[in-house]
Amino acid sequence: MTTAAADREVRELLQEGIERLREAGLPTARSDAEWLLAGVLGVERFTVYLGPGRPASAADADRFRALVDRRVAHEPLQYLLGFEDFCGLRLRLTPDVLVPRPETEGLVDWALELMRPRTRPLVADVGTGSGAIACAVAAGHPGATVIAVDISSRALAVAAANAGALGLAARVRLARGDGLDPVRALGVAVDLLIANPPYLPSGIIGSLPREVSRYEPILALDGGTDGMALSRRIIADSGRALRPGGRILLEIGEDQADPLASVMGAAGFVGIECRRDLRGVERYVGARWEGEARSPAAAAPRRPGDGGC
Ligand code: GLN
Repeated sequence: MTTAAADREVRELLQEGIERLREAGLPTARSDAEWLLAGVLGVERFTVYLGPGRPASAADADRFRALVDRRVAHEPLQYLLGFEDFCGLRLRLTPDVLVPRPETEGLVDWALELMRPRTRPLVADVGTGSGAIACAVAAGHPGATVIAVDISSRALAVAAANAGALGLAARVRLARGDGLDPVRALGVAVDLLIANPPYLPSGIIGSLPREVSRYEPILALDGGTDGMALSRRIIADSGRALRPGGRILLEIGEDQADPLASVMGAAGFVGIECRRDLRGVERYVGARWEGEARSPAAAAPRRPGDGGC
């Protein structure tokens, strides 16, 4: 029950949260506490500093402290808040989906650049998770329709909520299944196949920050022994899903540009290009599908140093 005696000042509560998070060694203690308190109070982050002496109810204080406890245990801030901003869209999140990363915005930028000349592009987003890429492409190109695929029905529920909340449900079509299977089952030829597949080598996941290793869905992170298992499968299957002249765009892990460019070359893709993210890491690889697989001789894997990115 809220009683006047139990009320604390917002400012005091914030300070208490910052100190607890600092003691737990979190480098983002201040901004995390600001976000969590703003979430509890239902206000914008910076207004937690307005009106010094403003009271917070005991119920709000309890809710805030419970969230701080979860953050002390390294639960990602985005799961505690239930959202993340991506490409200017506010996306709902649950622990069933990966937290969208800023580097994935670079993949969306590249996709929109490629789709700009087309009036009604058909796009497939493989492993859509929260629907971040699918929604950002649909929001960024008013003529685009995106088939958003995921193997996880819980992830698709999050993607559906996002597409609905953003008014994109008519152009973000959800399909459950493994890899490109649902796209092929639809029997359509897409203009762009885009994916941020799980690309981390299985062996490194345990050594990642606890936020990632303990809380994010392993299905969205683990790319097998060398991290490229799903990327290779998507490349191998994509020719059958792309129209002639269609594009593939993948987000990739560190040191995967050359090997995956080779896989694309061997699969018959042309115009292979790699791009770097804002940190300067080769993070994306894209290519064009000309419509038919190369002859077996031409499709032989390229030698090291032979092209690539
Ligand atoms: N970018 C994520 C990370 O570094 C990995 C995402 C992925 O595997 N697609 O934690």
